[in-house]
Formats: sequence, structure tokens, C-alpha cells
Amino acid sequence: MKTVRSYVVGEWYEASDGFVPLVNPSTGETIARVSSRGVDFAAVLRHAREVGGPALRAMTFGARAELLGAMSKALRAGRDELLELSCRNNGTTEGDGSFDIDGASGTLYYYAKLGQGLGDGRFLPDGEGTQLAKTEGFWAQHALTPRLGAAVHINAFNFPVWGFAEKAACALLAGMPVVTKPATATALVAERAVEMIVEADVLPEGALQLVCGSTGDLLDRLGPQDVLAFTGSAATAARLRDRDNFRSTNVHVNVEADSLNAAVLGPDVEADGVTLDLFVRDVVREMTQKAGQKCTAVRRILVPREAVDRVAARLSDRLAKVTVGDPSRDGVHLGPLATAQQLEDARRGLEALGGERLFPDGEPDLPQEGYFLAPTLLLDERGDRPGPVHEIEVFAPVASIIPYDGSPAEAGRIVALGGGTLVTSLYSDDAEWLEESVERLAPTTGRIYIGSEGSAEVAPGSGAALPQTLHGGPGRAGGGEELGGLVGLELYMQRVAVTGERALVERLTGG
Ligand code: NAP
Repeated sequence: MKTVRSYVVGEWYEASDGFVPLVNPSTGETIARVSSRGVDFAAVLRHAREVGGPALRAMTFGARAELLGAMSKALRAGRDELLELSCRNNGTTEGDGSFDIDGASGTLYYYAKLGQGLGDGRFLPDGEGTQLAKTEGFWAQHALTPRLGAAVHINAFNFPVWGFAEKAACALLAGMPVVTKPATATALVAERAVEMIVEADVLPEGALQLVCGSTGDLLDRLGPQDVLAFTGSAATAARLRDRDNFRSTNVHVNVEADSLNAAVLGPDVEADGVTLDLFVRDVVREMTQKAGQKCTAVRRILVPREAVDRVAARLSDRLAKVTVGDPSRDGVHLGPLATAQQLEDARRGLEALGGERLFPDGEPDLPQEGYFLAPTLLLDERGDRPGPVHEIEVFAPVASIIPYDGSPAEAGRIVALGGGTLVTSLYSDDAEWLEESVERLAPTTGRIYIGSEGSAEVAPGSGAALPQTLHGGPGRAGGGEELGGLVGLELYMQRVAVTGERALVERLTGG
């Protein structure tokens, strides 16, 4: 049986015990096993800090950008193999797998281009300089410089390739070496993606290490120049953060956690208009893409009370056209959940959510083997007040309609009951309604996606976390910030104020 390995201290390491089995979620068949038992985590950190870090910091932004370009190329070259592995290990259709794999190579490519534009410097100037005295003899410039430690990345099971790449792109461009840990359930895909990059021999020694399986005592060893970037559930994040060494040395932590994203339909949207078509298409895609196992998936659908029946009918009609089944087969839109545990959690979550089931109407016809769940649309008449729909993330193709009065104030109040989201989408062509809604929603969400007639043909849907825009959200969503162009580099860099004679300060900082 295939044993998933770790890539540490410049070598592939295969454990001999402590294995966790990996299964094909479409069949339940065991396809590989994973363990990191025996990995020397002190040596891993030493290798990153003493070998990878100095090599990266000796390079300019432009040179680091070239590394990202080469990583992107390696993943593009291995795309078909990764798609096949993702189908077997993650239960993805070709479209769902491509969202992960092409999203990874695309994000690396974007940061390669961004880094090229930063040129020959090693400091990243931050804003404009300021004169502090009567003359330019005393001047201030803020600038960012890479931290001296290791960037430890812990990722969720749903994006084994994009999750690795979007974090690695920012850390490597900033000048920090990466230790990446995929979720065990889908580590087979992440291992092969990293192996493709190692085989391409594009990175300096120590710049990238991979840990498949438990992180052992790795996190207890992190210190003031290290970074932990975590993606996963809020419960795991709380456990990981609660460490003495994190408190005593201020380890830099970024958390991307779960989120009850909302789609809000404006009261102006006509029954036969382009914007309603867009809303229906987007909501169904955001419910069903990757079988709803997306942190940015729509979980709450706010619909003006008088429009609930017709909107529910449109959504149900469209959901009825979604074919559930073996993701390797043509014509299948929705594969299984990734693990037996995910299916059990989703069923339990569905029970706890309550509400009236609008779709499917009756018993769905699902494959006998594997971890399949039908797309499920609920109506929560009590969703305008605190309750399970604002607390429970069912990580599956499940969403609830919440009737509301159509006002921006009410939309803002109801969405805020979720405690902070990654993305909120608004569908309207009424500029005044949108203006007030954006103002109400902005404090509780990381990204606002506006769907209107003018965007209908080109907008990618609210679930796409693009490298140009911020990914992260306040409160329950983790309070983190990733991507967003140069914003994504800040986690890996120390901001320093350099003061002195203007010409010298500008020469030193590139300001
Ligand atoms: P999870 O159970 O919280 O696990 C996330 C990661 O943490 C995995 O790599 C897991 O490794 C690791 N982990 C768990 N306990 C650990 C420990 N004690 N020490 C070190 N690492 C530990 O989440 P998941 O089930 O993989 O992913 C689903 C969740 O992630 C959902 O809630 C979803 O909303 C969220 N998510 C958020 C984003 C975002 O960007 N905001 C993106 C994707 C997913 P093992 O697998 O080895 O246990």
C-alpha cells in the first residue's frame, strides 16, 4: 500500500508505524496510509531557519518571484495527474479538482508577476515617507523586512493544493522558508504536489518542507520570529493558539476558520430579471461546488419575505438538475464528502440546524457506497434571531433560506448573528440599497461580492478566493488576512520604521 511521506531536512521520510488510513470517499476503499512518526521537528525548524531562510533572504523579490513562476509551471505540468489523485483522495469532480489545482498554479503565477514588479529590493517600502523636522535631514519611512524564522502552514482537507500554494506563495515571496502540513485526510494529493516541485528542483535547499501526519512537538518549538498560518475549524484554531510559547514569545498567528457566509437578495430584484438568474446560479454553485466543502460556500440565503416562495422554487428546480455520484464519471456535478467523519458530522449538523426541508422533496437517490449527501435546501422561518442557523457550519451541500424584510439594516443585523464571515454576497441593481447594505455589512465580513446585471456575464461567483483580494474575515472566521496582493506578505514580514536623513533612509528602504 502507498505510504504518504514527509519531505524534511532535504529528504523524503517514510515512517514505519503510527499510520492513519486514507480512503477513496466514493467507494470507502483504503488507498494509502499516513504517518509522521519519527520526524525530528527540532531538525525541521533548524533546517528552515538556518538553511532555507538565509538562502531566501539573500535573494531579491524579483529572484524569489522566479521561484514562484517555476513552482506554478511544475504544478501546471502535473495537472492531469493531480486531478486524478484528487478525484480518488478528495472525491472531486474534474471541475472541483481544477478549482483547487488550477487555483494553486494561478495563485503562484499571480504572485510571481507581482514579485517581478517589486524588482531588486529586499525591503518592501510601506506607504509614503514623512518629513519629521524642519528639513529633510530627519525623515521617516516604514518598511517591511522578512522575519528570521520558519513559516509553519497547517491546512484544511478541502484544498490540499491551493491551501498549500496560496500560503507558500506569500511566505516565499516575502522571504520566509515554509514547513507545510496538509490535513491528513487528503495528504496524498498535497504530497504529490510538493513532490512535483521538489522534482523540478526550483527552490533553494530548506525553502520548503512537508509534514504529512501529526505535527508532533513542532508548534511547541515556535518562537518570536516564526509564523503559524492555520486554516481549519474554529475549534482546532482555539486549541492550537492556546500555548505557553505562543503567549510568551508572541508567535505570529493567522487563522482562517469557518464561516457562515450569506447571500442577500435585494428587494428590487425582479422575478424575470438577469440579477435573479445570477443569484440562483451563484447560490446553487456555492452550495454544491466541492460538495459544499468550501469555507466560502453560501450557508445562509436571505430573501425578502414576499419573494421566498418563488425564489425557493427557482433554487429547488436548479438543484434538481444537479447529478450526484461517482466524480470520475462524466456528467456528475456533485461527488461525496471527503470522509466518513465528514458525512457523520454533516448529518448531525443537519439535524441540529432544524428548519423545513424544501429540497430534496422525498428520499434522494444516492449511491450505496461512499460518503454521499444530497444537496439540501432548508427554510428557517426563525432565522431572523439567534439560533442554530447562525452557529452551526454544516460542511456539506446544505444552505438555509432566511426570510427578512428587505432592508439593509435587517440584512446587516441578521448576517452579523453569524459572528463574522469570510464573504457576504449582495444581489441588487439598486445603488442606494447597495450603498447602505455595504456600509452595514462591511464591519462583519472580509469580502463583499456584489452581483448585478453589469457583472452577471463575467463575475466568478462569491466562493472564488482570488489572490488580488483579501481572504479572511473577522470574529468567528478567524480574524485572519491572507492574499489581497501585497497584504498577504505582511504576516511574514516585520514592519520597521527607519528614521534619519532622507536620502539615506530612502536608499536603505527603497522608499
Ligand atoms: P480541522 O479539523 O480543524 O483541521 C485543520 C488542520 O488542522 C488539519 O491539517 C489538521 O490535521 C490540523 N490539526 C488538527 N489538530 C491539530 C493539532 N492538535 N496540532 C496540529 N495540527 C492539527 O479542519 P478540517 O476538517 O481539515 O477543515 C474543515 C474546516 O476548515 C471547516 O470548518 C472550514 O470552514 C474550514 N476552512 C476554512 C478556510 C478558510 O480559508 N477560512 C478554508 C478551508 C477550510 P489532521 O488532518 O492531521 O488532523
